[in-house]
Amino acid sequence: MGVILGAIADDFTGATDLAGMLVKQGLRTVQVIGVPQAPGLASWTHEVDAVVVALKTRTAPVAQAITDSRAALAWLQAQGCTRFVSKVCSTFDSTPAGNIGPIAEALMDDLGTELALVCPAFPANARTVYRGHLFVGDALLSETGMREHPLTPMTDANLVRVLQAQSRRPVALLGWPVVAQGPAAVAQALTELREQDGGLVIADAISESDLLTLGLGCGDWPLTVAGSGLAIGLAAQLRAAGSLGTATGTPTSDFPVIRGPALVIAGSCSIATQAQVERMRVHHPAWRIDPERAIRDPDALVLEVIEWATSKLGLQMGSHLGDAPILVYSTASADEVRAARGARAVQDYRAGRETAAAHGAGETESVEEAIETVLARITQALVAQGVRRLIIAGGETSGAVVRALGVRALRIGPEICPGVPWTATLDPADDEPYPDGPNQSPQPKLPTLALALKSGNFGDPDFFLNAWSKLPC
Ligand code: ADP
Repeated sequence: MGVILGAIADDFTGATDLAGMLVKQGLRTVQVIGVPQAPGLASWTHEVDAVVVALKTRTAPVAQAITDSRAALAWLQAQGCTRFVSKVCSTFDSTPAGNIGPIAEALMDDLGTELALVCPAFPANARTVYRGHLFVGDALLSETGMREHPLTPMTDANLVRVLQAQSRRPVALLGWPVVAQGPAAVAQALTELREQDGGLVIADAISESDLLTLGLGCGDWPLTVAGSGLAIGLAAQLRAAGSLGTATGTPTSDFPVIRGPALVIAGSCSIATQAQVERMRVHHPAWRIDPERAIRDPDALVLEVIEWATSKLGLQMGSHLGDAPILVYSTASADEVRAARGARAVQDYRAGRETAAAHGAGETESVEEAIETVLARITQALVAQGVRRLIIAGGETSGAVVRALGVRALRIGPEICPGVPWTATLDPADDEPYPDGPNQSPQPKLPTLALALKSGNFGDPDFFLNAWSKLPC
């Protein structure tokens, strides 16, 4: 049987999170970076059950996010997919303008469907939805560190209200009392909602059994908007419907042994990453990126960090010093992030006064973009010098780094913690001859890298220290 499930993820860590969950549910899954353009990709989508397309649309302008998502949908349809997931973060990260609602509605339009279930719950990581409110552990989403997120501050835990503010279609609630009655009750409630106004339906889920119920109750609705947790239910539904073959995906089969210098890049300012950085700094060489220099003096900063990193890893001697990883981070507390923003605003104001007359009020790079670019350039240079194992903390940060590296697809490997698998980069040449013949490479080949793309809020404080032991050796 061919590929059936196509997922469109709004960031890169979310994509690996979902791909890892699908593999755990036994689906043979591959993750591609962006909408593939190049020839020679057939083996990535044959003999798999699911393909996850990683996009960077969470904070993109709405029109761009819609265009990218629709292109991903069309590509997945061309591969044969008939069921689709619009993958969102388990903390429903979005801005007042979207992009969860606008992307979902564009996909609904293209698929001609009147209703889509929406469920970010991921109980294994303590994200639950009850009466339409998203909890992280015992706290409402709006009372967690997500309030202070640099790009997507979440100040309202009522998902019906959050999603309605970004959507044209009505947003309804499928409450837990119905979910608790099982798949048939869910299916009936969804049919009734479609017969009313249709639209988007936020579903409560407080346990994995609720996710199973939701997946089975969704039946073959073409689109769900989901966190990775719902993979449990979707896989069960596909299996029950006989849509999956007997072959199953296993995280470790085919996963290569990857050795070489190791690097942690942390661009997330989430509470969990702050603790992980603190823990790693005690044991390993660490460089803190100064946001102001990332804006004002990025070239010199990048060179300094590369020089420091190559000496710490021993790369300049042609062989590295050992297996100990080093850390480059911009991770900062909410107060420090506010201070960096304030400094940027002052600079913009001054620069604006000087340049407005000559150039008009042009756009300037935000502090977040400046940091992402610096971290991506540093990683690119260090991979070129021999780094082979990488942990990247932060969804947007991972997107910037992985794109700069030119990664095109990922094989899913062993799980480090819920939501974060190891992955290995895939290159068409791993599986197929290049179009020009076996001895001619039309493009430079990226060495095989071990990548762990960690959503900022995932993992315990020792994540950066212990993740390496999960790699096959
Ligand atoms: P998460 O997974 O926690 O959401 P992201 O990488 O998606 O992490 O988002 C973090 C954003 O914050 C990135 O755009 C990053 O460049 C930005 N950032 C990182 N460090 C700082 C800092 N010190 N000051 C301001 N912004 C920062």
